[in-house]
Amino acid sequence: MADRLDPVLPGSYLGILGGGQLGRMFTHAAQAMGYKVCVLDPDANSPAGAVAEKHIQADYVDHQALKEMAACCSSVSTEFENVPAQALDELEALGVYVAPRSGGVSVAQNRVAEKKFLATWKAEAGIGPAPHFVIEHATDIDHVAADLYPGILKIARMGYDGKGQITVSNKEQLTAAWQEFGQVPCVLEKRMELDFEVSALVVRGHDDEVLAYPVAQNIHKNGILHTTTVPAPSLKADQEVKIIEAAKAIIRRLDYVGVLCVEFFVLKSGEIVANEIAPRPHNSGHYTQNACVTSQFEQQVRAMARLPLGSTKLIQSTVMLNILGDEWLVDGDRSEPKWHIVLKNHSAKLHLYGKAEPRQARKMGHINFVGNNPSEVDVACAEAIKVLRIQR
Ligand code: ADP
Ligand code: MG
Repeated sequence: MADRLDPVLPGSYLGILGGGQLGRMFTHAAQAMGYKVCVLDPDANSPAGAVAEKHIQADYVDHQALKEMAACCSSVSTEFENVPAQALDELEALGVYVAPRSGGVSVAQNRVAEKKFLATWKAEAGIGPAPHFVIEHATDIDHVAADLYPGILKIARMGYDGKGQITVSNKEQLTAAWQEFGQVPCVLEKRMELDFEVSALVVRGHDDEVLAYPVAQNIHKNGILHTTTVPAPSLKADQEVKIIEAAKAIIRRLDYVGVLCVEFFVLKSGEIVANEIAPRPHNSGHYTQNACVTSQFEQQVRAMARLPLGSTKLIQSTVMLNILGDEWLVDGDRSEPKWHIVLKNHSAKLHLYGKAEPRQARKMGHINFVGNNPSEVDVACAEAIKVLRIQR
């Protein structure tokens, strides 16, 4: 086995668990640097499998498939948040350099562990989680403090894009919601008065170097990310410093190698709370593809290949607009959106994920609008929303 500190040089294979759009954009970034990519994903038509040199079509915990991956790749990462920790451990036991390792990934996979982690390191990070209470047994419901209502009951595992969440105002509603979730472990979180939402994208190299991208401001519609704007228009400079310091403390405490995203809420009171941790490149970091020196996907490649990290410098103002399947389904008839009109704006950069079937709320792509100042990119984004007849 190569020395742990030796880089994995271009020409080699890098492995990625998960074949969704994040894996596809990772694959493109790796290939641009001369790597080959091996994707493990059970779906025959996965977006990343379609562009990688090698696609192992199997379950994430298929021992044979993991062996095959280990034989091909000396370094493996994950794009799929809910990849079983067991798969990462198994690859590591086979001698593969796994970045991030299962310990950090599993904290982010489980809201109970995540809240506990955020609460434990609140003093060091300077920012903690929202007030919350863990519901694992029916009797826990009796011990919920009255001031957690109205709250949001969130399932501990597998929730995303606002799924697996129910707002509850009292004990009866909480009981009903927990039953609706099948009495699985959940976290009840106090509903906070949000002013706006931001996310911090950080990366840590194998040598403990930690870099942060500028903080991004996010707007969600129906629980799904709608736009990301950078620089964050509502964020004060001192708040940005505080958020970046918190995200850096979190990535270090998780002993995490790779790109990580932390979502934060800025409350009406001015207070900041940490919401959740995504153990991978993140939708709110897609702007880095066209607005920063190094994209989040290239950064993931560098971290897992034990190369020096790239500059996170922002070159231009940017707004990222998410493109959902709804854009193909306007007026009930299915048709390709008018990209040729959108692209009349020379600063619009279109990214589509190669998904054949546009379904409502399905992430199909995004557009990065880049420009010299925030108002220019806002106008460009608003025009595209009109052209695409986005109703959200
Ligand atoms: P997901 O995994 O679906 O992204 P989040 O916990 O990030 O789950 O919640 C999705 C969205 O719901 C957040 O971006 C925010 O808009 C809203 N939300 C979540 N928790 C709270 C809260 N405690 N108070 C107010 N709004 C919340
Ligand atoms: Mg979220």
